[in-house]
Amino acid sequence: MREFLQVINYCIGILWKTSRKYFIIRIILNIVSLAAPFAVITITRSLINFLAGGGRSASGGAVQTFLIFSLLLLGLNILSKGIETVSAYYAGLHRDTVDTATKQLIMEKAARLDLSFFDSAAFYNEVSDADSNSPLITFSAFQAMDFIRYFVQFVIAFGYLFQFSVILPAIFAVSAIPSTVAQIKQVEAIYGFQREYLGEQRKMQYASDILLSREFAKDVRIYNIYPFISGKFRNIWKMLFSKKKKISLRYTRILLALSTLPEIVAAVFLFLLGLSVVWGTRTIGDYSFLQGIMTQMLGSMYMVISSYTQLADGKMRIQNYRKFLGFESRICEDGVLELTEPAFTVEFKNVSFRYSDNLPWVLKNVSFSFTSRQKIALVGANGSGKTTIVKLLLRFYDPVEGQILMDGKDIREYTPDSVRRRFSTVFQDYSNYAFTVKESVSLSDAGKANEEALVLDALKRSGADSFTSRFPQGLETYLTRRYDESGQELSGGQWQKMAIARAFFRKADIYILDEPSAALDAKSEDEVFRMFQTMYAEGGAVLISHRLSNIHLSDVIFVLDNGALAEMGNHEALMKEDGVYAQMYKLQAEKYKGVQ
Ligand code: ADP
Repeated sequence: MREFLQVINYCIGILWKTSRKYFIIRIILNIVSLAAPFAVITITRSLINFLAGGGRSASGGAVQTFLIFSLLLLGLNILSKGIETVSAYYAGLHRDTVDTATKQLIMEKAARLDLSFFDSAAFYNEVSDADSNSPLITFSAFQAMDFIRYFVQFVIAFGYLFQFSVILPAIFAVSAIPSTVAQIKQVEAIYGFQREYLGEQRKMQYASDILLSREFAKDVRIYNIYPFISGKFRNIWKMLFSKKKKISLRYTRILLALSTLPEIVAAVFLFLLGLSVVWGTRTIGDYSFLQGIMTQMLGSMYMVISSYTQLADGKMRIQNYRKFLGFESRICEDGVLELTEPAFTVEFKNVSFRYSDNLPWVLKNVSFSFTSRQKIALVGANGSGKTTIVKLLLRFYDPVEGQILMDGKDIREYTPDSVRRRFSTVFQDYSNYAFTVKESVSLSDAGKANEEALVLDALKRSGADSFTSRFPQGLETYLTRRYDESGQELSGGQWQKMAIARAFFRKADIYILDEPSAALDAKSEDEVFRMFQTMYAEGGAVLISHRLSNIHLSDVIFVLDNGALAEMGNHEALMKEDGVYAQMYKLQAEKYKGVQ
């Protein structure tokens, strides 16, 4: 019960916080609509008694009284209908406001949690549960309001019935308990089932995403994968459907048996009431009144049960939603120092790292250092840990062992934001945004979004101006035709240039470029690397590339081999060393010679 009250409290809190105005209006409308049915029943009793008694004489006065009764009833009914319509209007607005607010909280949480959460299937389950539950949370919040309203209505009707009998209303209430319990058990079982199979539901969603999204559209056609994907989709659905059907059937049988109880009690009540009219102990007006009150009580009792059941369902969903909102980042944000100086040193001191306790080490006892004025390169085979080093630099993760020092102090002593501000990075899996050219570039520094000259400069530096300058709507051109028919579609290399322009737009001390060779043509790639190495004479760069001709001008080259630092030095020194780097370099040079 305490938990239940906490949920009501939480729901009312959501309704109140998201819009006080709508909340107050709806409370007032609820109070009025609560009283209206009782006023109608009371007036009807007087009317029937009047008709059954002196009203029959049809004198001028009696007709007038009858007219007043009828007008009163008409007025009340019009008022009730009016309130219903106005309530629906405000409820619609309030629901939209609450819905958006709950969704926004989920979006904000997901945006603020650290990257490691996105490595785990359990987290995706929680995201999908919270996201799909957000409309139900709004619904529960509304149910809390309805629950209170129907409960008050029920108590008033209950009180009226006491005039007739003390025991009967109590029997009424008790007769509803078994089916209420069964209904609550049913929603608990169904939600429990949904949570248990969240992973399977996400797989169904994934199958549908594959068929509905552009990303996979080519594969869907060249490999004709529809039968495979739809087979997967249907098999999961069949399995889930049969399990859900079993649960539903079990509870439907129980409910069928239990829900007849209150109806039997109501029939007995009406029979006894009828008898009392026949015996002359009650008037026809009383009969109509008590029958009206009983219908009202039954109606409100069912509404109380149904909103209570919905709230019981909402309770579990809200608990999980709150659990999601309560997730804490693992990256400790206790650091208070701000890394503000453009010139600073970076040192990896015996750093070892793995993504999770049960996964192999990705970096093993790595030590090296550089300054924010140097151009350095990271070289090594696929999977040797280069991108992981960048992720540690940006403090997406903390080392499992060892330390990263910035300007001589542990990276954890700084605020993560101030560390990230020092860098501007293009990852290998950069993102493509379906925004305008201007928005897509200026995303990296939203504070300067209106400075078109800076956007144009960034486009020029990345080489993206070669195509954006031809767009008829210039910087306002939408990328992709997803949201705008006149939008522009880009090639892989053009997207990459947009991502590089975004990195250039941001003023940083160290620019990081992670392996752009995949999409760029040889000439563009050469230009981009030259830009990173020479443009900011003072600024630093971290370059990752498999093509060693791109990075041989770097001040220091760090060679990684299976997570360990194998060699370091400039190109000449490494060639002299005749180790891994020299062998790779010679191999690549041989190949190019072969082509000539
Ligand atoms: P590189 O950039 O040198 O190609 P990465 O640093 O991207 O290598 O990856 C190093 C290793 O870490 C790879 O074996 C990769 O599978 C693993 N890895 C990368 N990201 C994750 C992650 N989020 N969770 C688990 N393992 C990961």
